[in-house]
Parts: sequence; structure tokens; C-alpha cells
Amino acid sequence: MTVAAIVAAGGQGRRLGAATPKQFVDIGGRTMLERTLDAFVAHASIDEIVVVLPADTPGPASLTACTKSLKVIAGGHRRQDSVAAGFSAISDQVDLIVVHDAARPFVDAATIDRTIEAARRGGAAIAALRASDTVKEVSAEDPHRVARTLPRESIWLAQTPQAFARSVLADAIRVGLSGNTGTDEAALAEQAGHAVLLVEGNPHNIKITTPEDVAYARTLLSAGSGTAVGMPTRIGTGYDSHRLVEGRRLILGGVLIPYSMGLKGHSDGDALCHAITDAVLGAAALGDIGRHFPDTDPQWRGANSIGLLQHAVGLVRDAGYVVANVDAVVVAERPALAPHVDRIRTRLAEALGVGMDAVSVKGKTNEGMGETGRGEGIAVHAVALLRPAKS
Ligand code: MG
Repeated sequence: MTVAAIVAAGGQGRRLGAATPKQFVDIGGRTMLERTLDAFVAHASIDEIVVVLPADTPGPASLTACTKSLKVIAGGHRRQDSVAAGFSAISDQVDLIVVHDAARPFVDAATIDRTIEAARRGGAAIAALRASDTVKEVSAEDPHRVARTLPRESIWLAQTPQAFARSVLADAIRVGLSGNTGTDEAALAEQAGHAVLLVEGNPHNIKITTPEDVAYARTLLSAGSGTAVGMPTRIGTGYDSHRLVEGRRLILGGVLIPYSMGLKGHSDGDALCHAITDAVLGAAALGDIGRHFPDTDPQWRGANSIGLLQHAVGLVRDAGYVVANVDAVVVAERPALAPHVDRIRTRLAEALGVGMDAVSVKGKTNEGMGETGRGEGIAVHAVALLRPAKS
């Protein structure tokens, strides 16, 4: 099954009263649209993404780094016109389409899974919340007078994502184009005569419409343990090795270590910094050290690797994350690392923007086996955990 996501961000979001359309409003260091797209880029079941933006609006720069097929197209006047435009841009092999509002940046993977699974079974499915408040219907003549109380048990509040078999969404769009209006795609699918299933939504999957919603979203991000809702912690791994040669200084973790040889490399050869840099970049899926600091670029020749690490931490922060902790193993037959470990941890902690207690470096010999065991080089393994930056 091939699944596409249409992220509807075609509106101007005038109710927010901000200068920019609401999908570009910053929520804790990232725009609403970027946070929403993250959920679909990261979701294993989503094969391609179409983002519908207001005409003449460039997509966020981070879209260019997306590893999935991602198209940015211009939306229409109404929401349903934007989704219709998005639908026409999806590729032929797509069987199932998930429609989602960019204004719901806290959508989680499990909710997306539930809607996909139910739509696969039933043709159309929406995430929805059971009404917990008592629901009143007002009179047509006086919108401040209650006409009647609706049975709460039968009331569900529709969210997005909403997922549809391709033919069902095609029917819904046809109904919409023939003059009908729906505030969501499910309403149009219903008008087209299709059954729509409900799956449990997520109360955190709020729709951001007013300035109060923005304030609440920022509160959600900084609440509790400091872990942002909808933005999980991320882990990355890194590895590097360099040959030990005469006539070079030995630098590990930005610290000069007295030894008769040093690590060969275009830069200072600091394999510990390189492995940690790759772990940090990897945790944010931002590629690797070779992509950001190519050794063919004279700018990085002889570069100070602790500076590269610091630069990588900045890239990760731009993506909304900070380092939680780092652990590394330095495989070196000689020299002994233990006397230098605390200086190395201090230096790395500065570059990573964390306390020394969040940085662990262990020295290990290779028991005389292989290249590292013969002292021909030094190898480093590292892992890094990132957590969402607080707003
Ligand atoms: Mg290296």
C-alpha cells in the first residue's frame, strides 16, 4: 500500500491576527508548518507528502532537506479547493491519502496509524474526540439562547488526520467541486454517500486558530519534563577512526594529549569530536560531518574539530533540539586516556552546551587485536541523545 499525506496549509489564518500566515508562526523555535511536516516526514507509513501553501508562498527552507518525495503546491480559495489541488499532485501509485491541517502541529504517529488502518479497512476514517462537555444547540433566531441539549454520548469532535482510500477522496472532491461545501473532507465523503469511521484522536492534537491557542501550544511545549508534546527525544550514533602517524599532535575531544604520534586527517584528526558530531547530526537526521564540512572545502582544512562540533550543535538547535547527553568509547591501545578524561569531558560539555555530567568518555584498548590493537590508529564510537528545545 502506498500512502500520501496532503498537508493543508493554504489558509491565511486571519483569526490569529499575526503578520504572517498562521502556519509560519513560531511555536517554540519552529514554525507550526515545520512541526506538522516533521510528523509526516518521520512517519514510516507515509511515502510521499504534498504541502498546499497560499499562492506565491515559499515553503520553509527545511523542506529541501526532506528525504521523502515532497511537493509544494499553491492552494485554492477554500480549504476543500486546496485539498483538491493537493490531490491532483499525488502520484498514480498512491492508494490511500491522509489529509491533515498544518494548524495541528502536535499530531502523533499513533493517531496517524489509527486513521490509516481504519481507512484501509473501511475506505474513510477520521481522528475524533468524544465530547466531554455537555453540548448545547442554540436557536436560529438568537445565538445566545439554548434551543436544546444534544445527547453527549452521540457527539464526537472531528480532528485531522483524516484518511481516505483514493477513490473515496476522489468522490469527496467531486462533490466539493460540484458546489457543496464541507468544513472537512469527511463531510464531503459523507455527502458522496461513503461511510466514515471514527478512531480515537489525541487531546494534544489541538488546532491552533487564535492567539490564545498559540500561547497554549507554547505552554504545552515547555510543560512537564521539558519534553515537547509531539516531538520525541532522538538518538544518534557516530563512528570515526583515524590513522596514528608521526609528526602530528594528538587531539581528542579538543584536548591536546602528550604522545609521540597524532591522528592523520585534513582537520586536526580529532576522531572523538568527529564521532560525536556524527552522533549529534544523526540524531536529528541532518546527515553527517562529511556533508556539512567536506574535506574538499578549503574552509575546513586544518579545522578545529571542537568548533565543527559546536557548529553541528547549532544546526541541531535550529531544528528544535538540544543535546541531552553523549556517551563515547575511544578504542586506543596507547596512550592511556584515563588521566585526560575529565579535561576532555569538560571541553566537550562546553561545545555541546551541557553540563559535564551529561558527557561520558571511556577509554578502551582492543586487547592487541587488529589495527587499533596494534596501535596503528584510534577508533571512536559515540551515541548522542537529543531532546526538544524548550520554548
Ligand atoms: Mg574523522
